[in-house]
Amino acid sequence: MLKPFACDPEASRGRRHREPSAPTRSEYQRDRDRIVHSTAFRRLVYKTQVFLNHEGDLFRTRLTHSLEVAQLGRSIARTLGLNEDLVEAIALAHDLGHTPFGHAGQDALNERLHLADAASGGFEHNLQSLRVVDILEERYPEFNGLNLTFETREGVLKHCSLRHAERLVAGDPDGVGRRFIDRTQPSLEAQLCNLADEIAYNAHDVDDGVRSGLISMQQLEEVPLFFRFQKEALAQHPGLAGRRLLFESIRRMLSAQVYDVVDATRAALRGSAPGHVNDVRASPPLVCFSEGMVCESSELKRFLRANLYRHPQVVATTDQAKEVIRDLFAAYRAEPGEWAQGREVVSLRGIADYIAGMTDRFAMREHERLTGRRLFD
Ligand code: MG
Repeated sequence: MLKPFACDPEASRGRRHREPSAPTRSEYQRDRDRIVHSTAFRRLVYKTQVFLNHEGDLFRTRLTHSLEVAQLGRSIARTLGLNEDLVEAIALAHDLGHTPFGHAGQDALNERLHLADAASGGFEHNLQSLRVVDILEERYPEFNGLNLTFETREGVLKHCSLRHAERLVAGDPDGVGRRFIDRTQPSLEAQLCNLADEIAYNAHDVDDGVRSGLISMQQLEEVPLFFRFQKEALAQHPGLAGRRLLFESIRRMLSAQVYDVVDATRAALRGSAPGHVNDVRASPPLVCFSEGMVCESSELKRFLRANLYRHPQVVATTDQAKEVIRDLFAAYRAEPGEWAQGREVVSLRGIADYIAGMTDRFAMREHERLTGRRLFD
């Protein structure tokens, strides 16, 4: 079933620490299983995607977002003959490095690290996802981290600045940082997870946005990608309204994007005809939308940015979230004993790792314990 350009677990570039192979599972199945059993994965259930976790039980969390990315990714992978297990492993791990409170948390932590030490390198969630699977998980007797295969780690590190890449390469010359210096692409499975991430959040943020009352179905009529499928749904089901109309429009929009990726990627693969994953790495990006869908999808993104992510109510909680992170950082720096709990190294990076690992509610509780102030209610 696997196409020659897919990643083959038998030909994996391997793990950082040698291990015997498993009797019943491929290397990528094993990566997926290690991720599902990790502590960081369970924390995703209480981490913010867009809406803070305690704002409502039905909003996406990092966990349900990651499951949706895995579902979309696997279904496209199967159609294209790519490795489904690898796609699933990357999708489930791609957001493990996120701080509590989403991007607001990341921005505040990054800012505090830079202010504390300009040479610290700051905080970036993609790099942190790699740190989680490479170093921070403590589950195995022989090594730190989950000791995942090169291909899964390559997919987890989806963006990396040149400066960070140089640091990574200094410690691991042929490692996953290399491609950001050589300006090459990752496997098709990794490219697919990137696009599946985008498809997933564009769709579920529309759903969560309407559920929250911050955006309306009427407003969405100005988004061609949504309006097209709403009209289609109404033509087939006259009188459809409310929640069912919203879901049916999103469902059609999701399917159209999936078919678009399949068709556009097949065309790109025919054009460059890679015979092996190494040809993929040397080619331009191959997993893609058609040109029309690129435009429509960016219009939807622009709409969400203007009307949801920058909505005064979202921005207000964002500001509170930043305050929590800044206060925690200051408190732990002032009194390392407060958090070190037997850890040997008390460093800025250690504090950042500790804060980044927190769930929203743990961070809020810690904040209240250390400052006596209760935010967010
Ligand atoms: Mg994501």
